[in-house]
Amino acid sequence: MATHPQRLQQALAGAAPKTLKELSRELSLSEKELVPLLDKLQRSSGQGRAGLCIEPARCIGCGFEFKGRSRAARPSRCPECRSERIAPPRFWVEGGAADD
Ligand SMILES: [Zn+2]
Repeated sequence: MATHPQRLQQALAGAAPKTLKELSRELSLSEKELVPLLDKLQRSSGQGRAGLCIEPARCIGCGFEFKGRSRAARPSRCPECRSERIAPPRFWVEGGAADD
């Protein structure tokens, strides 16, 4: 049986970028459980292996991007315009593709 990190990597490979909510539904894990797994995947990437890519969370109100964040957790409020309409970060795994 595959471990949680393996299942996460499989869920992220190949398909379109996914949000925490989509991963949560697909893997039957809570978003709280997924955040540390994504953090770990991010840290372990970049050494010739498939790497985690993150499209940062973005404010829908003003377009501010939460780029400085390394954590997968979704910010609750925009520091620029204080909007709470935040598009969640999306995740995918890159590497090992045939067209590279
Ligand atoms: Zn904003």
